Amino acid sequence: MAIVYQGLAERGEIWRRLFADEMPDLPFHVLPETGDPARVAYAVTWKPIDDLGRRFPNLRVLFSSSAGVDQFDAAALPPGVALARMVEPGIIDSMVEYVTLATLLLHRDLVGYAALQREARWETRPVTPAGRRRVGIMGLGTLGQAALARLAPFGFPLRGWNRSPRTIPGVAVFTGAGELDAFLAGTDILVCLLPLTDETRGILSAGLFAHLPKGARIVNVGRGGHLVEPDLLAALDDGQLSAAMLDVASVEPLPPAHPFWRHPAIVLTPHVASMTQPDSAGRVLLDNIRRHRAGEPMTGVVDRTKGY
Ligand code: NDP
Repeated sequence: MAIVYQGLAERGEIWRRLFADEMPDLPFHVLPETGDPARVAYAVTWKPIDDLGRRFPNLRVLFSSSAGVDQFDAAALPPGVALARMVEPGIIDSMVEYVTLATLLLHRDLVGYAALQREARWETRPVTPAGRRRVGIMGLGTLGQAALARLAPFGFPLRGWNRSPRTIPGVAVFTGAGELDAFLAGTDILVCLLPLTDETRGILSAGLFAHLPKGARIVNVGRGGHLVEPDLLAALDDGQLSAAMLDVASVEPLPPAHPFWRHPAIVLTPHVASMTQPDSAGRVLLDNIRRHRAGEPMTGVVDRTKGY
């Protein structure tokens, strides 16, 4: 058996050394080098690998090196190949930090103050207490729940929306399509932490914004495909939304002519809300392969019918 890796060279080198030390019987190949393709049982990558099933006929598990798997065409994977996403402390910690940053930034009107600063205008706005700013997270999975836990001490009334029911102390949870409008009606800062699937593509649209209180703010740290970009521009322009912080875009890198770059009510970051940390993620990958070889359940296994 062997593993092939595709991705950042520096991370590949850290993982190659880790596997050499901890699992010396499993050769770690960095693409394009593969060794004997018939021996490859595991592949780890962020971007899809061309012809994966044909090139590696004995592949058993495809590991995403990131938390999402929407970049893969799960239906095209050979039926016997499991798909697993990366669930590791480095991704969780950095996402929690980013969501906290974005929430505080929008809560304290930093987008508006940055625009005033560019015009050298010393103007004050009322300070809304955290207890009167309702924060709602869409997607109460690993990242959504971790972000809510970190936000709790600030005193924001917290709510969440999820496909299946959840019980989270101190968080008002809304479930499924039937409770989405009620969730939105009480959300002043909306954070999208959903996976991108057929059901969630384009969910951040004019129809959804219309159910938020006027002047609400949004954070998109899911995927660019969640947001209907012209609808965001229209909602900002007519005041239905007052600001947005976006880490993801429909086309990445975002083209220089895109209106988001220069919009005074939008703060952009280039898909850096969280990043796989080579050391902690390497340990998770190693542990998952150990589990797979021992016939034990792995972490982060994707339900291919649900797409996440
Ligand atoms: P999880 O799989 O742990 O959680 C996803 C959650 O979304 C689940 O609770 C799930 O509900 C819920 N969900 C899925 N579909 C729907 C739906 N149609 N309606 C309502 N709820 C739904 O994922 P993570 O928390 O680890 O990650 C979430 C996403 O964050 C990733 O898929 C990725 O797109 C994004 N991400 C972005 C990064 C960035 O740097 N910008 C970095 C890392 C992740 P249920 O429990 O019922 O299945």
